[in-house]
Amino acid sequence: DQKQTIYFGAGPAKIPQSVLLQAQQELLNYSGTGISVLEMSHRSADFNKILNKSEGLLRELWNIPDNYKVMFLQGGGSGQFSGVPLNLIGLKEDKCADYLVTGTWSSKAAKEAEKYGKVNIVHPKLDAYTKIPDPSSWTLNPSASYVYYCANETVNGVEFNFMPETNGVILVCDMSSNFMSRPVDVSKFGVIFGGAQKNIGCAGVTVVIVREDLLGHALKECPIVLDYKVQAEMNSLYNTPPSFSIYIMGLVLEWTKNNGGCAAMETLSKQKSSMIYDVINASSNFYACPVDTACRSRMNVTFRVGKKEGDEALEKKFVEGASKRGMMALKGHRSVGGIRVSLYNSITVEETEALAAFMKEFQKEHQ
Ligand code: PLP
Repeated sequence: DQKQTIYFGAGPAKIPQSVLLQAQQELLNYSGTGISVLEMSHRSADFNKILNKSEGLLRELWNIPDNYKVMFLQGGGSGQFSGVPLNLIGLKEDKCADYLVTGTWSSKAAKEAEKYGKVNIVHPKLDAYTKIPDPSSWTLNPSASYVYYCANETVNGVEFNFMPETNGVILVCDMSSNFMSRPVDVSKFGVIFGGAQKNIGCAGVTVVIVREDLLGHALKECPIVLDYKVQAEMNSLYNTPPSFSIYIMGLVLEWTKNNGGCAAMETLSKQKSSMIYDVINASSNFYACPVDTACRSRMNVTFRVGKKEGDEALEKKFVEGASKRGMMALKGHRSVGGIRVSLYNSITVEETEALAAFMKEFQKEHQ
């Protein structure tokens, strides 16, 4: 059966239907092997091909330079909140790191890093995660081991549309929720990581891209499964990797490539998110997006309904009304309330159009 649901979930998120169908078709007998990928030894030649295909597509789509290692790890984005400081905070003697805290996820990452060294929040603390402090207000520490930021704050709907300037200090980025949604110059980063469950696959695998010269500096208490040097040298096979998730990621990346790659995903993401922001902007404050225009996310559009601080009864009606039309998972994160529309790569323009039309209709009915 074709799915009738339009799924706007923030992650795990929609996977292109063609990918699900292919996975279904291959589930019992993968490519004539007589077994399922779910059953396959991670040390077999067949799985090696799957692993290499996923890595090759990642490298191709983002043009990842040869002096970067690509790893497929477990532990999610949150695992890397620990993995990053455990591997990098010891790069310099002071064991100190600079963090930009622009939302829920970078805040969690900074807290985790405090367990392993000194953390400096480089800008005045924000009382609400609705903007990115102007770089002129940042105080970067030249002896920091790295500068950390989250490119897209999934909960708050805040996205960087620029790359922080770090004066030569290693730049580390959590791209979990805007991975492969635009071209990225990987050579500008020390580490990029992201869970696959939003733009590039399903839960279980976390991609970590690391520049080779940063390997081998892990603190001695770093768990071996999070040790970049060990995992990079063993091609992510120190222990059993999340094999099925790596396979699904390969299929999603193939879909991404066949649909124009990152440049096309960027164009579409601008088009889709503008459709929703345009409705918000033209709504005479019936819909209100709290995020500064300059950093409104292309991936997660957050807004309140009825009034600026949100009319909760009306928001409930909005979610119910959308759900009756097959549009699911629009409720905002419990910490911020309101509505959140996740527009990852697999969401189509038509699906976004359907939501924009519903928003206009809902306003007419309830204003
Ligand atoms: N970073 C970002 C930007 C996220 O959106 C999330 C999860 O939604 C995480 C990190 C945490 O990822 P995980 O749940 O895979 O640990």
